[in-house]
Parts: sequence; C-alpha cells; structure tokens
Amino acid sequence: MKIIAIGRNYAEHIEELKNERPIAPVVFLKPDTALLKNNTPFYHPDFSDNIHHEVELVLKISKEGKHIQKKFADRYFEEIGVGIDFTARDLQDKCKAKGLPWEIAKAFNGSAPIGEFLPISSFGDLNDINFHLLINGQEKQKGNTNIMLFDFGTIIEYVSKFFTLKKGDLIFTGTPSGVGKVSIGDRLEAFIEDKKLLDFEVK
Ligand code: MG
Repeated sequence: MKIIAIGRNYAEHIEELKNERPIAPVVFLKPDTALLKNNTPFYHPDFSDNIHHEVELVLKISKEGKHIQKKFADRYFEEIGVGIDFTARDLQDKCKAKGLPWEIAKAFNGSAPIGEFLPISSFGDLNDINFHLLINGQEKQKGNTNIMLFDFGTIIEYVSKFFTLKKGDLIFTGTPSGVGKVSIGDRLEAFIEDKKLLDFEVK
C-alpha cells in the first residue's frame, strides 16, 4: 500500500508557514514503513530537533481506480479516519531552501500514525466534518472540511491522474493551522467530531 499526502490545503496553515497558496494540490508520498497503528508510541528520532504534529483527515481507498472523475470520487473510499503527518520541520526547511525533495522530512519511520476509521455512512455532510487534536489535554489544532482549499473529490481526481489508487491506500488530506513541535512525553489524542480515534505517546 501507499500513503498519498496533500500539503497546503488549509489557508491559515499556508500563512503560518509563509508558503504560497497552490493552484493545484501539493502531493507527496510516504512508504508503508511510515505507518504507526494501534496507538503504538512514536519514538522521537534523533535526526531532528523540531518534529511537528499535523493532524489530518485520512481517506481509506476501497477500490482500484485511475483517472477518477470528481463526480465519481465518493465511490472510491468508504471510510474516513484521522492521522498525524509528522514532519521534521528543521530538515524540511533545509530541503526547501535548497529546492530539494522533502522525503527525509516527511516519510521517515513512524511519521504516519493513524487511528480507527469510521464508515462514510456515519457522516452527514462530508463537506462539514470537524476534527481536532489535543496534546496533553490541550487543544492544539482544529479543522473542518468546509475550509479545505481542495475537497475530497478534487484531491482524488487530481492524484489519480498520476497514481493508480489501490484498495487500502491512504490519503492524508492536509492539516489546518496550529502545527507545532512535539516533545518526548507528550500525549496526542485526535478526534473526529467528539469521537476519539487516535491516542498515543511520544517516547
Ligand atoms: Mg501535512
């Protein structure tokens, strides 16, 4: 399986990192070795002093497809969950400054914790889903799909032009504002609406 991730999908997050607003989704990949499941602890790597949390809604692809039109995109995912797109911001800043790819900053081991998934049927309007992240009990990030620059259908249409989507692939759909550094000992809890779907510690 593969993990496809979207960057710069929430305006206030683009502003906090002083990035440009994209005209098409910004796309990158993480390997399956980035996954962390079952609330397993995240072991802070020693190659970075500035690992940032980015809480994101995650789509689980339910059937193979490519060149998917936006109007049919909802046939290709049946579950939505929440995950963290851990980012070594110090390494990413160095890569960006040199115009180099970001993979070491984004795709390292354990950089994609995911929680439980909920069936699409448990949601009302997919364009009005609230999610948030607590760290040590304090709210650090909150988002709603109604403020995404590119909605789920647009993301699926765009990424499936380049990559065949396969059953079990995951799409991280971008983070709202409020990203920041995590430290050893932190406890991260991520929610969709009032349902806690992810709960793990940084060790
Ligand atoms: Mg992200």
